[in-house]
Amino acid sequence: MKSNKVRLNCGIAMPLMGFGTYSYPNDRMTTELAILNALKVGYRHFDTAKIYGSEEAVGNALNKEIKEGRIEREDIFLTSKLWGSDHHDPVSALKQTLRNVGMEYLDLYLVHWPVKLKPRVNNAVPNEEDFDKLDLEATWIGMQKCLEMGLCRCIGVSNFSSSKIESLLDFASIPPAVNQVEMHPMWRQGKLRETCGAHRIHVSAYSPLGGPGNAWGSMAIVDHPTIQSIAFKCSSTPAQVALRWGLSKGSSMIVKSFNEERMKENMASFDLNLDEEDIFEIEKMEEKKIMRGEFLVNQTTSPYRTIQELWDDEI
Ligand code: NAP
Repeated sequence: MKSNKVRLNCGIAMPLMGFGTYSYPNDRMTTELAILNALKVGYRHFDTAKIYGSEEAVGNALNKEIKEGRIEREDIFLTSKLWGSDHHDPVSALKQTLRNVGMEYLDLYLVHWPVKLKPRVNNAVPNEEDFDKLDLEATWIGMQKCLEMGLCRCIGVSNFSSSKIESLLDFASIPPAVNQVEMHPMWRQGKLRETCGAHRIHVSAYSPLGGPGNAWGSMAIVDHPTIQSIAFKCSSTPAQVALRWGLSKGSSMIVKSFNEERMKENMASFDLNLDEEDIFEIEKMEEKKIMRGEFLVNQTTSPYRTIQELWDDEI
């Protein structure tokens, strides 16, 4: 049987099915319950971020299960992310995250966006006066320090284009293990997967279903006739087809469902087999990025005046 884990360039193995914990509104009890259910269903890889406000709930649920002896810390893969306002001091930010999750280390710590904000700005959508001058080299030195201090087992990035990956590699002593980006059948990241693949950087897919039901998400993937007809032919569901497609590219999936039946459905995508023709049909679908990052673009203070600059024309 094929392994359901991927070995990262930092040497550790990451479960390919990750559990997303961003939800709006963000309710602590609901998130805790979802994590407990996800553990029962078999999820071992959890994705949080300071800006999601879910670190405490994720930590509470995991620690409860660890304390009661139902799981071991070593069996969990926990990711969190450095928000823009913490670029000036990743070590202190990660120490705060560790206090939030009640753990001694994270498995993976990611630079959430290639954007630096002024200290103490905690808006998910920054105002024009909130931006600070981006210095990715200084940020990455701080990320490397986190690793050297044993505060995390791997470091990586999120929302980085091919070109930003290449420039990071020019000065990085330790390369990123992961680039977590939007990826699904309608945003396939062909170029980025090639660039990252050449440098042994794992591409992890967020919003692998396109975020159906999210305020900013889209039903376009799960409702697409190509996805629906493959699902019908394979006696599976559109979500399973989308997830299986992403897994077939070697990517891990960071999928969010707080509904137990859909958690099981998503996990069962490992059992689906897509043939070459299915993959070919999926890769004929039109591409459309959903998380475009307009909120990080402005004419005066952001390093990016347009979304094309943010994504280096990969949009
Ligand atoms: P997603 O996982 O593609 O979609 C989540 C939505 O789909 C939820 O509304 C969920 O509702 C619904 N859903 C889940 N399984 C389903 C199924 N089998 N059939 C139909 N609907 C289903 O998108 P996402 O929430 O945007 O992304 C997932 C995770 O990625 C986030 O939670 C977060 O951890 C991470 N993320 C990272 C970044 C970044 O910048 N690095 C950006 C966005 C997201 P129910 O809960 O009701 O099932």
